[in-house]
Amino acid sequence: MFAVRIVARLRPPLPGEVCDDGVRVVSHRKVDKENAEPNKSANNSGPGIIVTKEGSSQHYPFHSAYGPDDSTTQTLFIHDMLPLVDQVFSGQTVTVFAYGVTSSGKTYTMQGNGLDDRGVIGLVVDEIFKRLGAAGGTLSMSYLELYLDAPYDLLVPPRTTSSHSGAPPLSFGTSIHLPALSTHHIESPEAFRSLYAQAAGNRSTGATLLNSSSSRSHAVLTLYLTLANAVVGKLHLLDLAGSENNNLTGNNPSRMKESSAINTSLTALGLVVSALNDNAKAISKAASKGEDPKLKLIPYRSSSLTRLLSDALGGSSLALLIVCLAPGTKFRSDLVRSVG
Ligand code: ADP
Ligand code: MG
Repeated sequence: MFAVRIVARLRPPLPGEVCDDGVRVVSHRKVDKENAEPNKSANNSGPGIIVTKEGSSQHYPFHSAYGPDDSTTQTLFIHDMLPLVDQVFSGQTVTVFAYGVTSSGKTYTMQGNGLDDRGVIGLVVDEIFKRLGAAGGTLSMSYLELYLDAPYDLLVPPRTTSSHSGAPPLSFGTSIHLPALSTHHIESPEAFRSLYAQAAGNRSTGATLLNSSSSRSHAVLTLYLTLANAVVGKLHLLDLAGSENNNLTGNNPSRMKESSAINTSLTALGLVVSALNDNAKAISKAASKGEDPKLKLIPYRSSSLTRLLSDALGGSSLALLIVCLAPGTKFRSDLVRSVG
């Protein structure tokens, strides 16, 4: 059954950043049972985030939680991501999302900072090549971004950076797939890095009040694994656009249009995940009564993001949602809940 693992990562304060002292992390790296529900017990002891306001505290449970002092991306990778790499090698589709407001650490978590702390993407590619040596097989990739709900292939030159006048968007046609999306065979971690660097330079960025180079698009990197024994696995790695709302970024009409497209697609993602959860509950409830479950229609087609991921959200696929939090921004539990 489709399962989402939800983890929180609170980054350290940046120089000069005004922090909200009421937000702290508890019990990082606690090992949970596979796919267990986050610990909802009232004793605040499970992994999670505690938000203290006017003397009272609220505990938001996560499957695991990482604070500013103790964690590198590698810690999170080993604990939360390695088990999912096993799943990809057994033929599953796995999706990793980095979710959060601009400057909360999504790109840092997925891509790394190019210096000492490597990102999930580089770590997982190395891990896959290590295992491919033993298992035998091939790896290929595609990389696209969704900007104003339209998909653009990041691996097809030439492209201009800030506008998309360089290449037309890809078309879904009537399908959930993008027939024209390019896929590229990759021989080695080095070959991957060179393709990735080329594509990363093509991502849309725009100045907002929150961050001068905030990403206003969703980046979707997909790794396709074909093993010698014919097992086929797929891994989507997403650096989502900032989840801040329009009121905070409102400075000019085109930024507003971007914010609204971003909010629409993130809402669609939240609705798909919550409909899947509802269906899973309905199935187990009906099974215990020996009845047929009444299932909700999953609204995959309400955004390009959910349409693109429709084969990855549902069925026996797995997902890891990394909720990135900045100590300087208000903790928005509504956003966390809408996705979780
Ligand atoms: P986002 O992609 O969510 O907009 P970034 O990943 O660009 O945010 O992070 C914003 C800033 O915070 C960057 O300067 C980044 O290097 C820094 N940063 C983010 N997460 C961490 C972390 N865990 N440890 C140290 N610095 C971090
Ligand atoms: Mg970013």
